[in-house]
Amino acid sequence: MGSASRRALVVGAGVNGLSTARALLHRGWDVEVLEAGPLPNPHAASYDYHRLIRPHYADHPGYARRFGEALAAWEGVWRDLGATHYVPRGMVALSRSPGDWSERAGESLAAHGIAHAVLPAEELAARFPHLETGGVRSALWTEQGGALLADRILHGLAEWLAARGVRLHANTAVTGVDAASGRVETARGSFSADVVVLAAGIGLPGLSPVPVPGAEPRRCTVVYADIPDDLAPLWENAPCWIDLGGGDDLWGMPPMLGLPAKFGCGLDTRAGDPARERETSDADTDRILAHYVGRMKGAERFIPRSTVANFYLMAEEERFVLRREGRVLSLTADSGHGFKFGALTGEDVARAIDEDRLEETATLLAAL
Ligand SMILES: Cc1cc2nc3c(=O)[nH]c(=O)nc-3n(C[C@H](O)[C@H](O)[C@H](O)COP(=O)(O)OP(=O)(O)OC[C@H]3O[C@@H](n4cnc5c(N)ncnc54)[C@H](O)[C@@H]3O)c2cc1C
Repeated sequence: MGSASRRALVVGAGVNGLSTARALLHRGWDVEVLEAGPLPNPHAASYDYHRLIRPHYADHPGYARRFGEALAAWEGVWRDLGATHYVPRGMVALSRSPGDWSERAGESLAAHGIAHAVLPAEELAARFPHLETGGVRSALWTEQGGALLADRILHGLAEWLAARGVRLHANTAVTGVDAASGRVETARGSFSADVVVLAAGIGLPGLSPVPVPGAEPRRCTVVYADIPDDLAPLWENAPCWIDLGGGDDLWGMPPMLGLPAKFGCGLDTRAGDPARERETSDADTDRILAHYVGRMKGAERFIPRSTVANFYLMAEEERFVLRREGRVLSLTADSGHGFKFGALTGEDVARAIDEDRLEETATLLAAL
């Protein structure tokens, strides 16, 4: 796909589709975006107040290696948008037993030369007064990392693209893809281009001309809750967290910019049906907040504001996948950790197309 081919269609306006559109535009391509829902779509995996960005990776150290590049790619987005949608609150992970997730993540940060500190148990109560630190051996701390303001990024990218002549088609679901001709069908007619990038999130397996190994939608629920007034001073300098030790995979964000704190629990994430399981119940809220009792001071008194279930596409080994068939590239850079790399993924995919470097880029994206 040499540089003589200049027209690209991007299917899906989540962070990966919009970032790919932006990066292709920078490379001089004529770009069009097709999105099934509103643009951006509140049902997209990318849509929320914020998403975590952190270098802590225990089992896929290749993604830790790319953290610096990811931050640099976001810097380019902030320059384009004229606004920084990143709140660098820092990131903490706790270790409760030898060889646990946090300890392994620390080893990968050390191996990749990423600035971090391993704080001993006796420092933790003063440093993180909102956390229950009994039984904690150490904390893995990075000053870098924090919150990417996801909805602002999506709206910003969409506006930036539209202002530069990119045709953005909302409510235009792709129903068929012909890989050989680069033609896609929608209820509003057909579209064609030299290259089609399928960045359709959970919609990808239904569209992709090549199989996406192990792909399944996962239901992930987050609780937004206020911190009671008497506890608020403990949270003044609280960082984001990614694993509080103990195997239940707790992650989230402190209150910021007037938003309530956000509480997630990996143990609660499961395969699910996006068509039927977006509603949440008090049981979802209670189950998730219950994991925080004994981990955060006064967690039993946190005041739930809203609980949101959303879906992402899990692929084999939680790796990002880029495959080509004819004129079509199938992309999933998700598996529940894809937002932080969104700007970088867009640059990677645009380079793969523009410089015909697909295989090498697929390896890079899979962090192998
Ligand atoms: C609750 C939750 C918490 C998460 N937390 C984090 C985190 O803290 N940090 C992190 O890095 N990542 C996180 N992730 C993962 C991250 O959000 C995703 O990896 C990333 O947003 C995926 O972006 P995407 O553009 O590939 O997909 P999406 O954002 O899902 O975008 C795909 C788009 O394609 C559209 N589409 C689908 N089918 C079609 C079709 N047939 N025709 C046209 N358009 C179509 C959809 O409507 C959608 O807008 C989280 C995900 C969830 C759900």
